[in-house]
Amino acid sequence: MKELIILGSTGSIGKQGLDVVRKRNDIKVTALTAANNVKLLEEQAREFKPLIVAVLDTQAAKDLACRLSDTYIKVLSGEEGIIEAAQSRGDTVLSAIVGIAGLRPTLAAINAKKTIALANKETMVTAGEIIKAAAKENGVKILPVDSEHSAIFQSLQGADEKSLNKIILTASGGPFYGKSEEELVNITAHEALKHPNWSMGNKITIDSATLMNKGLEVIEAVHLFDVNACDIEVVIHRQSIVHSAVELSDGAVIAQMGTPDMRLPIQYALTYPERGECFERLSLSKMGTLTFEKPDRKTFRCLDICIDAINKGGLCPTIINAANEVAVDLFLKEKIGFLDIPQLIEETSLAINSKQNFDLDDIFLADKAAREYVLNLV
Ligand code: NAD
Ligand code: MG
Repeated sequence: MKELIILGSTGSIGKQGLDVVRKRNDIKVTALTAANNVKLLEEQAREFKPLIVAVLDTQAAKDLACRLSDTYIKVLSGEEGIIEAAQSRGDTVLSAIVGIAGLRPTLAAINAKKTIALANKETMVTAGEIIKAAAKENGVKILPVDSEHSAIFQSLQGADEKSLNKIILTASGGPFYGKSEEELVNITAHEALKHPNWSMGNKITIDSATLMNKGLEVIEAVHLFDVNACDIEVVIHRQSIVHSAVELSDGAVIAQMGTPDMRLPIQYALTYPERGECFERLSLSKMGTLTFEKPDRKTFRCLDICIDAINKGGLCPTIINAANEVAVDLFLKEKIGFLDIPQLIEETSLAINSKQNFDLDDIFLADKAAREYVLNLV
């Protein structure tokens, strides 16, 4: 029996992770955490009977403790509670909190020697080197859940490590593919939240519309597969069937394909190296044509902003990530326009000082400074 802790169980990835658990009889859920969605967390707790649930919001945690008072489930609260849950009984952690908020709990889980099924890309973006060093020190595996990175990881199974020549990172292009800058000026949050192929949390859906998500994924791939950003080619693939590919030294290109369903990469990270159940079969003849194009880097500037940040290194990825988190939040609240997102990120990246050598405290200081900078600009 595998014992699984899910950080962010009420979110899009968390819920699909529980769906994977429902399909299997070899995974027992031992802890669940969320920011505040007490009603759903209670339902999940009653169905999966974990030992621990943790809620970020202390008032919501009190409410949940009342609701679960007829059970033996321990209710924890605050970030400390989530960290305690991340380190509690269990061998695997599905890291599915959104944003840099996932960093401390994920690092805590690594230090408690848990295998990490990593969905929370912001953890790798902001602290890739720290995370990798901690994983190495603790002998812990980090298995990608992000569909592109899972596809790359799957495509590399059996390949000699030194044979990786190039990563081909596919992108759907999001809801505004083909639009000009003028057409994007008055885009609303409602329009941006309609992704053509994937159903995801709000923040990543907006990131997909700006191509920030693809930029963050380039940074994530640099860390996960030890390559340079220039070894990654981003290709627009509207159908989201080829989830990404690798080019090997002899020119062979190996790709992983499937329907756009996150349960496959989640399950693969939870059952690796074994293969699990099939959720949905892909019929290539029904799919018909698959297309591949270059991204429009001028209109969707966030992609190059991210590549620039990882090439500069240091705290630059943390700064652009923080600026983006705040900008997306402001856009969702209709306080800024769609094109203000890249603008604010760029201005912040120029204003906040980075440094090459940094520790975890420096990351959180840079994150805070970038957030305050964006809020002052608006
Ligand atoms: P979501 O918003 O749907 O869910 C986020 C979860 O984290 C929720 O359970 C929420 O309660 C919890 N949470 C939010 N803020 C928190 C905080 N400050 N502290 C503790 N918990 C907090 O997000 P999602 O779409 O499931 O994405 C989760 C992560 O997975 C993101 O990093 C995203 O980039 C990545 N990811 C998601 C998808 C997808 O299909 N949704 C695909 C690839 C990668
Ligand atoms: Mg992805």
